[in-house]
Formats: sequence, structure tokens, C-alpha cells
Amino acid sequence: MAYFYSLTIKISCMKIKLTIPFLLLIGLTISANVIAQKLNSKEQKILKQVELNNNAAIQFLEQTVNVNSGTMNLDGVREVGRLFDEKFKSIGFETSWIEMPTEMKRAGHLFAEHKGSKGKRLLLIGHLDTVYEKDSPFQKFEREGDKATGPGVEDMKGGDVIIYYALKSLYEAGVLKDTQIIVALHGDEEESGKPISVSRKDIIDAGKRSDIALGYEASSGFNEATLARRGSSGWELKVTGKRAHSAGIFSEEDGAGAIFEVSRILNEWYNALSNEKYLTFNPGIISGGTFAEYDKNKASATAFGKTNVIPQTVVVAGGLRFISEEQKTMARKTMAEIAANNLPQTSAEFTYWDSYPAMAPTKGNEEVMEVLSQVSQDMGHPAVVAYDPMKRGAADISFVAAYTDGLDGLGSMGGGGHTPQEWVDLSTFEDLTKRTALLIYRLTR
Ligand SMILES: [Zn+2]
Repeated sequence: MAYFYSLTIKISCMKIKLTIPFLLLIGLTISANVIAQKLNSKEQKILKQVELNNNAAIQFLEQTVNVNSGTMNLDGVREVGRLFDEKFKSIGFETSWIEMPTEMKRAGHLFAEHKGSKGKRLLLIGHLDTVYEKDSPFQKFEREGDKATGPGVEDMKGGDVIIYYALKSLYEAGVLKDTQIIVALHGDEEESGKPISVSRKDIIDAGKRSDIALGYEASSGFNEATLARRGSSGWELKVTGKRAHSAGIFSEEDGAGAIFEVSRILNEWYNALSNEKYLTFNPGIISGGTFAEYDKNKASATAFGKTNVIPQTVVVAGGLRFISEEQKTMARKTMAEIAANNLPQTSAEFTYWDSYPAMAPTKGNEEVMEVLSQVSQDMGHPAVVAYDPMKRGAADISFVAAYTDGLDGLGSMGGGGHTPQEWVDLSTFEDLTKRTALLIYRLTR
């Protein structure tokens, strides 16, 4: 029962006849009207402001990308912070530069706060630093049509600029009044200052007085958002055997040696835990023999041993990624139990430490995603679904996941992060800014 409507389009000297289903044409007209109806007049005003600001936003992106801010270029990170500081002040935010202790060798962070009590209290998260240091050959913003390349253009000056221009458009539309919003732009996301308890103290404090955290790391598409990120942690396994002539191996007196024992442990870990969903652990380096040493700071190891001597020492170092604190604890417990069940004349010492916590896929995060999904659909984009946490690394939003609901992956769209081909799709920039402006607007009503 299709009705067809014929269109003849003239392109230069060619005549092309297109046959389009008539119902589809009606459908397009109706859906355009529905989009307009789904946004109230305030929301339409906000979108208009974003449109008016879009050229300035892309110019500001170019300006910030052209200032080198490799994590170790402290002056460069501070300069990018200063550029954003001016901007946030101009729209009614109180700003502060948070210094890190000198021995940490990090630039510090920019925090900006808008005080109020309307709707949800928000925490917007970005970072000022990039992985490209001063000596990198990749230094300049370059634009070709809708594609712009440059250091940090996607990870994540693009996201920072989206945060600012969304807020600026809300300010200009007169709807920012009395909202409670903290913007946290770290100066050391790519290589966080240690100890983490110091370098992430301020964001944790901000998280404790916020309801919802929104992360502006790169977006994977209008139809996806990150509502879970795995945490990361480290571990070390040190196995000791009895140093003796190899002829005695397997005997009660000389035992199995450290290398057989470490093989048993690693193999049993693999069998016990490798099918656990979202859990991964990787023995990254191993060294064993009569003597073995591992230098964590240099990420290198040395060993000495002979084929006719039962090995006395093995050191293994690795990482472990997990989706929740419960999973991390379970995995460590299992690993410790296996490591304690030693072969004859051997012993093992299993130690571990925390790095990034996990952002677990909670009900609260899903609810924020539903608000985003509604905004997206009201703008004519598809519904938003959860991005696979296996595909994302750890990020700063994880530090506040215990205190807030949250979503990440709301930043700019592009690719090639951490490579000299990093790029951003400028044709999506305006819509991503609009989406964030509407999301903030609806969450703060
Ligand atoms: Zn990043």
C-alpha cells in the first residue's frame, strides 16, 4: 500500500529521477514538528545560543590546543588553566587554582563553581593536560573541512570547550541562575600526581557535595554513554624456593623450586578467574632464577640462575581491572588463597595496591542516562545505550563514583587519542554542546 511521490532533481546537466515513498515525506514533516514541540521555549532559546556561540567555541578550541599542555609542561598546563579561568569567571563562576605540593611535579587543577540550590547539584569533569609533551612533533591545531587534528583536540580540550560553551549558553539564556555546578579541570589526568590521595582529594571533596557527575572524555556516538568504567590496580607476586642442586628437585627435602610454584599459581589464577565477567588481570613482567629483582620505577627486571640449580626466587608484577569494589575484593581473595597453597619447600608473598577505583553500573547512573537519552531523542537523535565498559580505560569520574550518580563519554567525537593522528569531528560539535546544555538544564530544574 505504498504511495509514491516522484521528484526530479537537476544536478548540472544530469537529470535524476528519484522515487520517494510519499508516506516517508509526510513522516519527515511530522517528526520535525514533533522535535520542536518536545523542546519548550526556554530550551529552544538555549539551543539558539549554542548556535550563535559555535564559531567562537571552535576558535577557542584552536586557541587552547595550540598551547602545549603535556602533563609535565607545568607552565603550559597553567596557561590553559588561565584561559579557562577567564572564561568561567565571565559567566559568574568563582574559580580557584589548586596547587599541588612541589615534590609532586604537577601543575595543579582549575576548579570553578557556580553556587545555588536549584535542582540536582552537578560536577562536570575535564582535564587540561595532554599526553603530548613539549618535545612531541605534534603541536598544532589544523583544520580541513569538518575535521580538525591537534594535540588534545579530542582528549580532552574538545570536552572542556563543550562544558564551557554549554554553560555559557545557559548563562546567556538566563537559566543558570541559582544552579549548583562545580567544574573540575585536572592538570594531571594523563599521568596523575602521586599520592593519589593528594592529587584527587579536591575532586573527591567536590563529589561529596554533588548529586551527579558528568565526565567529558571523548564520546563514542550520540547513541552511547559510559555508565560504568573499570577500575585499575596493581599487584606483585614474590615466590621463594629452596636453593639446591637440580638433581634433588621433586624430593621432599628440596621441593619444587620457585619457578614450578609460580607456574602453578599463575595457571590456577587463570583457571579460577579468567571467565569472570569484566575482570581482567595481566602478569606484565616476570623474572626468576637463583636471584631475581624487579624495579617498579624503571619497569625492568634482572635475573641470575643456572640450569643445574633449583631456582630460589621469582618476581611477577601485574595489573588487575575490575567493575566493582566487590569484584576486586573477591579476585584478590581468590588470588591470595591460591598463592598460599604452596608446593613443597616453596612459599609465596602476594601484595597489591589500589590505583583507580571502579565506576560500577548503578541504577542511579542508568537514571541519568535515561535523562540524556530523552534529551537526545527530543533533539532527533537515537536513544542512548550503555557503552561496553570493557572498551574504556580508567578515568577521573571513577574517584567520585562512590558519592554520585554519573555518566562519562559526553565529550567531543573523533578518534586517534594518544596518537599524532588525534582528531575531532567539528560537524558534531554544535549538537554535542546543545545536548549537554539541555542535559544540564533539565537536571538542574
Ligand atoms: Zn582524557
